[in-house]
Amino acid sequence: MKPKNIVLLGATGSIGTSTQKVVADLPDQLRIVGLASRENVAGMQQAVRQFKPLKVAMTNREKARELEAQIGDPVLSGERGLVELATMPEADIVLIAIVGTAGLEPALAAIRAGKDLAVASKEILVMAGELVTSEARKHKVKVLPVDSEHSAIFQCLEGREPRDVKRLILTASGGPFRQTPRKEFKKITVAQALKHPSWNMGQKITIDSATLFNKGLEMIEARWLFDVEIDRVDVVVHPQSIVHSMVEFRDGSILAQLSVPDMRYPIQYALTYPRRLPNLMPATDLARIGTLSFENPDPEKFPSLRLAREAGRVCGTMPAVFNAANEVAVARFVAGQIGFPAIFEIVERVMGRHRAVAPPSLDAILQADLWARKEAERVI
Ligand code: NAD
Ligand code: MG
Repeated sequence: MKPKNIVLLGATGSIGTSTQKVVADLPDQLRIVGLASRENVAGMQQAVRQFKPLKVAMTNREKARELEAQIGDPVLSGERGLVELATMPEADIVLIAIVGTAGLEPALAAIRAGKDLAVASKEILVMAGELVTSEARKHKVKVLPVDSEHSAIFQCLEGREPRDVKRLILTASGGPFRQTPRKEFKKITVAQALKHPSWNMGQKITIDSATLFNKGLEMIEARWLFDVEIDRVDVVVHPQSIVHSMVEFRDGSILAQLSVPDMRYPIQYALTYPRRLPNLMPATDLARIGTLSFENPDPEKFPSLRLAREAGRVCGTMPAVFNAANEVAVARFVAGQIGFPAIFEIVERVMGRHRAVAPPSLDAILQADLWARKEAERVI
């Protein structure tokens, strides 16, 4: 196989560094041609040295100048740098691992330039799933999931008829407060919420895993990636995080994908798709793991799942509002300004005040995102 040329946006984060490891592990098949991040100069310098990309960008302008001085090569800056990398002629696939909404514009630009997309940033599909998937169909490019649950579903669906699918079953670890009584939620500290039982991830997604908003975002993400209405997307709690998700077919059979929880598995599959290549990954020893257990999520404790279903039913601009209000609430919680239960209350109140526009244009989505951020600050 001719090496695949990869542009990596969000190169220094948790997914970004795991992607670097995957590429380093398969040097004959994968090549990084573009690297971008926001402000981590040391991380970028190290990655540039190791992968020698053709183009480098940092959205923070001062940091871009700093990196430029260190590596002695030009560094693009601002949001335009991301778009320039996402559309570079040498790129075959653009992996978007930027936390938050800054990945949306480069994602659309990549699709319109005919690039395949590997999507880790769930915000992209939650905010603009309808737009992104229809643009991808129009430009005949693939949207490959990096999120472990969606990679699992993607793998279970391969070669199957969409009409044979009964429902998608997302697994959730349940987070650190699975067994914490609801009445104790107001005492939860930031440090406790940042301790995930099975995955090692960036800060925002770790808090989202504690509130189960992450699973809510993933329900909406799945709805668009696989074109299955939200009422056929279910969640089951699976604390071991070995079964990454499942598909139930209309004959009653369920297919699942399993591995130890390590994001390098779904990252590699998105980058080498449709091939499966040997690597240096840890093996999954089921006998050692011993038990795989499943339980229903508690809807009283975690209203996030109900709110996600509501946003997914209303559609239009509502998922963008759901996402933005949660982002503001999480930032305030991490800053120590609000308690843990307030995250649920803020999202519910902001959604309650939104009049959704459907089907939404990119402008309407971005406006709804801004409105929800302001409204969330107001209701806090
Ligand atoms: P992180 O916080 O560890 O890293 C974020 C990266 O995005 C950094 O490289 C940062 O420089 C970059 N970034 C942030 N804002 C930017 C901007 N405006 N312009 C350019 N770069 C910017 O986050 P993460 O945990 O790696 O998550 C990244 C995305 O992947 C998120 O959307 C998350 O929901 C999703 N995701 C993460 C995991 C995981 O295991 N960490 C799993 C599934 C999905
Ligand atoms: Mg996930």
